[in-house]
Amino acid sequence: MDFNYTAEDEAFRAEFRAWLHKNLQYATPIREPLADEEAGDWEARIRWHRKLNEGGWVAINWPKEYGGRGASILQNIIYHEELERAGTELPFTGFGIPLLGPTLIHWGTPEQKRRFLPKILTAEEIWCQGYSEPNAGSDLAALQTRAVEDGDYFIVNGSKIWTSAAHHADWIFLLVRTDPEAPKHKGISYLLVDMKTPGITVRPLVQMTGAHGFNQVFFEDVRVPKQNLVGAKNEGWQVALTTLMFERSTGHDRGLAKQIAELVQLARRVRYGSTTAWESSAVRQQIAQFVLDAEALKYTSYRQLTRQLKGLPPGPEGSMLKLCSTELALRIAAFALELLGTYGQLARNSPFALDGGKWSQRMLAARGPTIYAGTNQIQHNIIGERVLGLPKG
Ligand SMILES: Cc1cc2nc3c(=O)[nH]c(=O)nc-3n(C[C@H](O)[C@H](O)[C@H](O)COP(=O)(O)OP(=O)(O)OC[C@H]3O[C@@H](n4cnc5c(N)ncnc54)[C@H](O)[C@@H]3O)c2cc1C
Repeated sequence: MDFNYTAEDEAFRAEFRAWLHKNLQYATPIREPLADEEAGDWEARIRWHRKLNEGGWVAINWPKEYGGRGASILQNIIYHEELERAGTELPFTGFGIPLLGPTLIHWGTPEQKRRFLPKILTAEEIWCQGYSEPNAGSDLAALQTRAVEDGDYFIVNGSKIWTSAAHHADWIFLLVRTDPEAPKHKGISYLLVDMKTPGITVRPLVQMTGAHGFNQVFFEDVRVPKQNLVGAKNEGWQVALTTLMFERSTGHDRGLAKQIAELVQLARRVRYGSTTAWESSAVRQQIAQFVLDAEALKYTSYRQLTRQLKGLPPGPEGSMLKLCSTELALRIAAFALELLGTYGQLARNSPFALDGGKWSQRMLAARGPTIYAGTNQIQHNIIGERVLGLPKG
């Protein structure tokens, strides 16, 4: 891999850095993962999203003709580096920008693209993802939510679970079973459903962090116009896989280097008798190991990047990165709690908590990424079968 950026890439960096500098007063700070929303938080994110969009910086991956920049892989990396450097991030405002937009660009009819893409860019319409069901998660194709044809409509009945941001969403992209007789990957269709349609109920689910991030969504005789079908009827699995591909290609770095730097600061402050935790060689050795692991992950991600830049099909690096980075984040959080001892029991924003209680929050939140976007056990299976050549489990 060539570690040098081209002049074009450096110009891209300079342009975005200058834009960020001018607009930083609108930026939302990097959020603690799976933290509860504070008053005004969602609105602030929407404002930042819209400001980014005004500058053409909210959907840089999308092709230019749809309002993006057609950014290259390296420009994507530069984009996120610059956001992080400025202490901000692309705000989470539902799944329109990262998932549905790119899926519609690939599969949508001209009319669907015209109708939906502009309002994703402006955050006038917020999208949630209706995939998982109470009995269909890792085995997603086991989904049972039914859609039956009735004239110009589908009538949908069933329920979706763990639906992030459904309580903010105007629309949901939904996987439904349209042919119960077909083999399970065959009779699935992909629908776009207005959340205001009669028959939809959203019930909150509170995570162990205390945050209300996701929901269960119920559908009772919900009428969906047939023009909201994406791809062909019963062939929605292909469309669903496209969305999953975009979900899995989102970065797995999770700010590990920053977390380790904060851990060092914590170790320097936590008292061990008359000295600090940092004076203990066992503590320093453990933190050094985290640094080594994070570096190894960084170079593994460069390997993945090299494959992408050469136009090769994705290798096993994606599974390795997902598995190892989420587990490293868990280990870092667990070690911080060891350092904190009983202080680690104090919840976020407790008056006596060190670092505002963010480490106990991170410990609880670190479990989520080991589950979504393909659980870590599923990643173990993929590595076992495709890399190590082990028999199917
Ligand atoms: C924070 C968060 C946000 C989410 N947001 C959304 C969302 O917006 N929309 C949405 O649709 N879903 C969402 N999900 C759901 C997520 O996609 C599922 O939780 C995930 O696919 C796992 O499915 P499941 O929970 O049904 O667990 P299951 O698939 O039932 O798995 C239970 C356990 O069994 C293991 N297991 C299952 N199959 C195998 C196997 N073949 N081999 C070995 N082990 C196996 C799993 O690894 C897991 O440990 C979210 C999840 C989380 C944690």
